[in-house]
Amino acid sequence: MTHTKHGLRLDLRSLILVLCALTALVMLCASYFASYRVQRQLLIDHALEANRVYAAKLASITETFIASALRQLAFSAGVQANQLADADALQAETDRVLHQGMAFNSTFVVDAQGILRAISPATLRHYLNTKVQSPGVQEALHERRALVSTPYLSAANNLVVALSQPIFDSNGRYLGYVGGSLYLRERNILNSLLGEHFYKDGSYLYVVDRNRRLLYHPDSQRVGTVVEGNALIDQLATLDSGTRQLTNSQGVPMLAGFATVPSARWGVVAQQPLEQTVAPLSRLVLNVVGTSAPLALVGSLVLWWLAMTIARPLWQLAAGARSMDRAGTAERLHRVPAWYFEAAELKRALLFGLNLLQERIGRLNRDAQTDPLTGLGNRRSLDFSLSLLEAEGRAFSAIVLDIDHFKRVNDGHGHEVGDQVLQRLAELMRRCCREGDLLCRTGGEEFLMLLPGASLEVAAAVAQRLRVAVQDTPVEPVGAVTVSLGVAHWPGPAGSEPGDALSKADRALYSAKQQGRNRVCVEGL
Ligand code: GH3
Ligand code: MG
Ligand code: MG
Repeated sequence: MTHTKHGLRLDLRSLILVLCALTALVMLCASYFASYRVQRQLLIDHALEANRVYAAKLASITETFIASALRQLAFSAGVQANQLADADALQAETDRVLHQGMAFNSTFVVDAQGILRAISPATLRHYLNTKVQSPGVQEALHERRALVSTPYLSAANNLVVALSQPIFDSNGRYLGYVGGSLYLRERNILNSLLGEHFYKDGSYLYVVDRNRRLLYHPDSQRVGTVVEGNALIDQLATLDSGTRQLTNSQGVPMLAGFATVPSARWGVVAQQPLEQTVAPLSRLVLNVVGTSAPLALVGSLVLWWLAMTIARPLWQLAAGARSMDRAGTAERLHRVPAWYFEAAELKRALLFGLNLLQERIGRLNRDAQTDPLTGLGNRRSLDFSLSLLEAEGRAFSAIVLDIDHFKRVNDGHGHEVGDQVLQRLAELMRRCCREGDLLCRTGGEEFLMLLPGASLEVAAAVAQRLRVAVQDTPVEPVGAVTVSLGVAHWPGPAGSEPGDALSKADRALYSAKQQGRNRVCVEGL
């Protein structure tokens, strides 16, 4: 990140990283959430279906039990029809039915007048030969067919469901019925069948009759009570089997499967708490997170590396753009690995701009140190060169020259022709010197040559050559002009400064003028 005067500004690398991190986070959360939802629905569907199958199985077992119990009673009714007058035989057959199987808590025979004629077990004998008023008896006497009663309170104050078969004589006259009862609040065949199939996951089972009265419930206190406000139970009479999500009487959300017992029109409901069913999910999600964490870490590292690789060229180009005025920027820009389109285009544009800038600066520098008329150096370039030579401690010779009677040229031919003469002289000076020599126009028609490394003798020879060249090169329409030259050397004998050499050369030039012009004078001579 970069701090600017505008405050905190994000760089591309941070932006890419933040973007990637956000994307990864959103994707992870979305996939965790999706897998959580899918798994949760799977668990719920599975639990609902398991409960339905379980309820259906128990309903079928109950149906089988009722059918078999009614068959036993039907057989007994056939036997009792012939011995209704024989109290002992009647009782013996009643005992037999009770003890034959575990089907009933009690068995009995009631005649057509509602008088109890035989009953088992023996503890109930004191009701013998009394008229029984209970609703179940009235129902059986009234219906005169194979019957599963609704629950009712028996004479002995037991909450019972009675199964019964009518007794007819050979002429089809109704004689009464044979009955067997289940004590709903005590141990009976029904709760043995239903209650033993318990799972440990909070699931339980209950059975209601067609009037919503509980025939079986794990909480035995509730057996015999009517269930109110349960939409499933309200509709149970009209349904066959299926599943429901509902809230139980304690307000706990439940997953219920149900089935009906057709002959008795009872409903069997198996259900389990929703919360316990989906409880393993949080562990599952934690597992998924745990498993995917190393992958996410590796992914993050790869993303980080990618972000760096993408951002690096732009970052380096930006650094180059910030230091365009510094040396070596072009080389640094050239080294930037611009491996994708945008970076490559930026790099190209930056290098182009940098070239342009440096060219401009170079031209300005040159212009600042160049005399526009002759193209030679000016005073500024002279000072610069002198300071370089001094810094290097490099010996040099200086030749100062001045055109003789130049005023006459101007006066005679005009200033422009004078300028042409100056340009011609500059050309001749260039021809007479070596590369590395510095040529300057120091004043109107005064010039200077710096010859690094040249001895006084060499410089004097160069001056002489130039003088002859000028004298022998006429300039139209002026004709021949001449120059006077003064030569000096640095360092002098007494450790002088470079500037002193120029003064000496000036003095030598003055001597040359004094001595008649068109000549070379060397310092000290
Ligand atoms: P001498 O040097 O031989 O003593 O005589 P001179 O006539 O050359 O005298 P001086 O050097 O003092 O004169 C300089 C003259 O050069 C003055 C001016 O008219 C002329 N001059 C100076 N600068 C320029 C220039 O840029 N162009 C032209 N055409 N003439 C210039
Ligand atoms: Mg002059
Ligand atoms: Mg002059």
